[in-house]
Amino acid sequence: MVRAVYPGSFDPVTYGHLDIIERASRVVDEVIVAVLVNSSKKPLFSIEERVCMLRETTRYFPNVRVENFQGLTVDFAKKMGARVMVRGLRAVSDFESEMQIAQTNHSLNPEIDTMFFTTSLEYAFLSSTIVREVASYGSDVSGFVPPEVEKRLKEKYSEKSGL
Ligand code: ADP
Repeated sequence: MVRAVYPGSFDPVTYGHLDIIERASRVVDEVIVAVLVNSSKKPLFSIEERVCMLRETTRYFPNVRVENFQGLTVDFAKKMGARVMVRGLRAVSDFESEMQIAQTNHSLNPEIDTMFFTTSLEYAFLSSTIVREVASYGSDVSGFVPPEVEKRLKEKYSEKSGL
């Protein structure tokens, strides 16, 4: 049984993340999407909201589950009995930092290997940061995120603007 952990901030989940989740779920037995309880960055969505949006949008994948975690990803993977880490590569610019993270993780725990999925071309430009930026101006993000997430983005930014 091959279990993989797919870690990230998912603030919020986008079609780019879902593409990676779907493809990973076809090659391993179980994917645990691990949402980082992030103390350094100030996320737009709370950990509960991020987990909830991921659970809603991955509910049709029987071998995908969503958890939150704190601390080192390798420790979380070990606790979950996973020996594969999944990451997505969008552009060459992702490569350097992703390689550094993968090598650090492998040296922290040599039993863990990182599996990279290159993004599908239509999502190569997509990031949670871009989505938040576009949504903050009230523009249409329906091509970037599922309807559940779009709704929450609208609510969040109308709360913020006091509407
Ligand atoms: P982090 O804060 O760790 O960068 P993200 O939530 O932004 O977390 O992303 C988690 C993972 O998903 C990273 O490996 C990132 O490269 C990948 N990813 C994000 N957006 C896309 C996309 N559009 N296509 C493919 N992979 C993506």
